[in-house]
Amino acid sequence: MIPYGKQNISEQDIEAVVEVLRSDYLTQGPCVPEFEKALCELSRAEYALATNSATSALHIACKALEVGNGDIVWTSPITFVASANCALYCGAKVDFVDINPDTFNLCPKALEQKLEQAKRQGKLPKVLIAVHMCGQPCDMQVISALGKQYNFKIIEDASHAIGGRYLNENIGNCNHSDITVFSFHPVKIITTGEGGAALTNAPELHKKMLLLRSHGVTRDPQLMDQAPDGDWYYQQVDLGFNYRMTDLQAALGTSQLRKISPWIEQRQKLAQRYTTGLSQLPLDLPFELEEASSAWHLYVIRLHDASKRKQLFAHLRQNKINVNVHYIPVHLHPYYQALGFQVGDFPVAENYYHRAISLPLYPGLSDSQQDYVMHSLAEGLR
Ligand SMILES: *Cc1c(COP(=O)(O)O)cnc(C)c1O
Repeated sequence: MIPYGKQNISEQDIEAVVEVLRSDYLTQGPCVPEFEKALCELSRAEYALATNSATSALHIACKALEVGNGDIVWTSPITFVASANCALYCGAKVDFVDINPDTFNLCPKALEQKLEQAKRQGKLPKVLIAVHMCGQPCDMQVISALGKQYNFKIIEDASHAIGGRYLNENIGNCNHSDITVFSFHPVKIITTGEGGAALTNAPELHKKMLLLRSHGVTRDPQLMDQAPDGDWYYQQVDLGFNYRMTDLQAALGTSQLRKISPWIEQRQKLAQRYTTGLSQLPLDLPFELEEASSAWHLYVIRLHDASKRKQLFAHLRQNKINVNVHYIPVHLHPYYQALGFQVGDFPVAENYYHRAISLPLYPGLSDSQQDYVMHSLAEGLR
């Protein structure tokens, strides 16, 4: 079986985790701050906060930006449900901006039109969550300019995009957003088993997320509304969660992060190989924007003929190629339909969905395996 994505664990990674098992701290020891420092060095953000998943990072990012009852959060319909659910957790409403058919990312033009309309209706979003689909960065310059014009905050859901670049800068630097979120689920670029991170350049957002990650409890007397009873004293100053990453996970993360550059290079090479090898088939192939360098989390092909997708998918699975579809548009899930969304609301996203298949792509996928995937694809399309 060739999976669509796969983690890469070395003896060094295993050693790093075993070392923690033999140490004094399994959680809240030295490894989490070390991992956070390494994330800051990679991304050039001022602050990084490791969490137990990207989903929890998105939740506390929304909380830190004061998303609550009566607020509206916008995101892309072509994403994992977590990018939208985080707003619902906060009691806010969710709406979507249709995608650009070439980049699969939310379309800046559609965003601008929707903002004009929302302004007239008094329904402007408080936060926009920009998802870097497949690792290809969104047009952050335009999005951040619109954010200033219409007064909304920006979270980058960079779950696919760690190691990528935009305008010659590393993803995660938050130069065009308030907070950036990474995921370290095993199918993503680097893994901690489960895990995520929220990065920011704003000290007050970092402070808020730090509290929310751990029960809203502090030991810092400056944050308390009364003097500590004694040295044991801690105080709950907000309603937080337990979203902490363990030291076991952080040690794995730091070890994995050392290999990110060669891994991204390998992903780029594999993507290029697909693009060359599949160019003669009746498919729309992904490409890289000039101003960006994709982390290539996913390589998504789109069939010219949507009616053949089911059969091609089955053919590839029969050939032990574990292809997948990313994603079912969020608004088409029954839970979101019950909130009032309908088929046809975001036609570009729906058209994308009906034609899309994600091919295997991960460092360690051999040339011969990749040739086999391409051969099976050509066969399935005949
Ligand atoms: C994987 C993913 C998430 C959720 O990540 P977890 O770490 O599994 O919580 C959120 N958004 C996108 C776009 C993802 O791909």
